Amino acid sequence: MSYYIQKNKKKFELKVKDILSESGGTAIVYNVQGTDDFVFKLYKDKKYATKSEAKLKQFINGFPSTELVSLKNLPIKGKFHQLAWPKNIVYEKNKPVGFLMPKISFKNTVQLNRIFSIKNRKSEKITEDITWRITVARNLADVYNTLHQSGYYVVDTKPANIRTYKIVPGVCLLDCDGFRLKNSPFEGDMITPDYIAPESIGKPPSQLGREQDIFALSVLIFQIFNNGIHPYSGILNKNETLPIQERIKKSAYAYGKVQNRIQKPSPATVHHMFPDEMLKMFSRIFEKKERPEASEWVSILDNLKKPSALSKCNKIGHRGFKKGCTTCAFEKKILNNNVQVKKPVTKRNVSNYFNNSPLPTKPKSNFEDLKDSISKFLFGNN
Ligand SMILES: [Zn+2]
Repeated sequence: MSYYIQKNKKKFELKVKDILSESGGTAIVYNVQGTDDFVFKLYKDKKYATKSEAKLKQFINGFPSTELVSLKNLPIKGKFHQLAWPKNIVYEKNKPVGFLMPKISFKNTVQLNRIFSIKNRKSEKITEDITWRITVARNLADVYNTLHQSGYYVVDTKPANIRTYKIVPGVCLLDCDGFRLKNSPFEGDMITPDYIAPESIGKPPSQLGREQDIFALSVLIFQIFNNGIHPYSGILNKNETLPIQERIKKSAYAYGKVQNRIQKPSPATVHHMFPDEMLKMFSRIFEKKERPEASEWVSILDNLKKPSALSKCNKIGHRGFKKGCTTCAFEKKILNNNVQVKKPVTKRNVSNYFNNSPLPTKPKSNFEDLKDSISKFLFGNN
């Protein structure tokens, strides 16, 4: 068995090392001998691999230039990929079998939903300075915007396919070969419940694009700032059970100015402390079903990082929106009302991509120092 990549009609043999991840999914990801920068994704289905060649070629030639879209000028050297994008097609006996892509360090990143809750942020040693999460959300919106500008759609947005770096407030999207390119055939056959826009329900993924992405992106942004609470979860007026996706279908956004007819907000919500521009944007998307460009999110979040849009908190390490510190507001609610925090409704599927990777090792103390210095660089000393 001999794998190789081709460049200028020359063949370079590729020797696989150990398996980085193998799951019930469609591919196996291997480490490659001689490099720690790239990994090899081997499709399990040979026919699918053959069919994917044309698409992979398009993707490789049309790499969206998101490289460090908003992580420029950091006082740190290192690669912070934003996309695990196909780099070279890998062949075996003249047939395509998969591709090379950048290796995303599992040690230095966590799944996006790990930064949703205070508890998980604490265990990942991520700051309660709100500007960290504003920057993560801003970076995520920026990546979506760049993809859209280049004609790509994520289609199946889910936290399991988004990693966030622990030492810089940025993201990396996985499974990019599953994205859709405008005006090209698309074979995706499933998207993740709880992130499907009302107008996308029942449509084949080949017909979904920017609008679906904006809806899902906005759900994630809401969860990042509201401790993982889904914008369509809350306390139902009738004593019944209704899956989140059904509530999306029924326009049950619970956090608008006017009380929703289906449900009340979750008692643990801190959305009342969100800046008005942010609440307005959520209302446009979740109530009025508008689908603005991701770049609008980028500029809103940019403005929210400005000192005039922030407030100090008495607790060390905290900083809040202008209306106050959401961390303290949340903790006060829990204390005073004895609110039971339900587990976030988001399904926590582990990505197929890195399923069997070893658990992240405990960060070293110099790692903490580094993170502190970056945080100070980005956000000042408050
Ligand atoms: Zn606080």
